[in-house]
Amino acid sequence: MVERGRDPGWFRGASRRRAGAAAAVCEGALALLAAWFPSLLAACAGRTELAPAAPRTGIEVIVLGIAQDGGLPHLGCRRACCVQARATGRTLDPACLAVVDHAAGSALLVEATPAIERQVAQVAMPLAGVLVTHAHIGHYLGLAHFGREVAAARELPVWGSRRLAAFLRGHGPWSQLVDLRQIVLREIEPGVAFVPMPGVTVTALRVPHRDEFSDTMAFRIRGPNRTVLFVPDVDRWDREPGLLERLLEGVDVAYVDGTFWDGRELPGRDLREIPHPPITDTMERLAELARERPGTVRFLHLNHTNPLLHDPELRADLERRGFRVAEQGERVRL
Ligand SMILES: [Zn+2]
Ligand SMILES: [Zn+2]
Ligand SMILES: [Zn+2]
Repeated sequence: MVERGRDPGWFRGASRRRAGAAAAVCEGALALLAAWFPSLLAACAGRTELAPAAPRTGIEVIVLGIAQDGGLPHLGCRRACCVQARATGRTLDPACLAVVDHAAGSALLVEATPAIERQVAQVAMPLAGVLVTHAHIGHYLGLAHFGREVAAARELPVWGSRRLAAFLRGHGPWSQLVDLRQIVLREIEPGVAFVPMPGVTVTALRVPHRDEFSDTMAFRIRGPNRTVLFVPDVDRWDREPGLLERLLEGVDVAYVDGTFWDGRELPGRDLREIPHPPITDTMERLAELARERPGTVRFLHLNHTNPLLHDPELRADLERRGFRVAEQGERVRL
């Protein structure tokens, strides 16, 4: 792996230029060396696999995390789900995507999670900015790492709703990042498309959720050829009839709130009190779409207790019906 994460200037312009030059050298070297030194090729491209095919091109979405805010294992959980994960070293990070432009050598982060270091390290490219859906800890806490204690970013664009921007501006430690211009807030209007990096158009759509500190957005991310939906946190679909259909309009791959399987994984809780749409309900609503276009709907933001993370048969059955559970590291070409 290229240890770019150690460069304190990683998010600065100078570093970006250095990285660009390094990438050019890398690319020139790739063609010559690929045949003889596949492991060097992988290292040069910042990837972990030993023998990749052709160098990656175009714009891709990479899934960097598929768990609910607390990840797996989950702080304080002593149930089998997390006891086993601790014993085996299995970890799943909070839901997060990167949009990577291989030609430009830059990436957008979608969510700044508490696992941001690990997630950005997998991208191994300078960040062009960060998109944030809402102010719950699994989605924005990672912004703190752009401050002076860690990465000391310089004018990194952060896109979020007007209410999220006001919250960040008005409360420490986020206000310090804004005052020092380590991050620059870009307010987005629901329904109004914006271009966070060349070739990528994003539309934010408001969704109902527990909105204590900010409102909550879903993102529709459109590249040159395909469109990906990201809606990690949303209230039950019957809260807003027609919302699910609206979110899915023109979408090729949809990463959808899969926090709970059917709610029974939370013993003692009234199913009707759980605000998230159970996966079983989403599958019922989208059964036809999944049959006609298998792999379109992929669940993420799974709670540590979600049986889909622990029961291969349940997961195989879901896949037979044309749905997927998102996997960390999977890629979708835009
Ligand atoms: Zn969440
Ligand atoms: Zn657990
Ligand atoms: Zn949330």
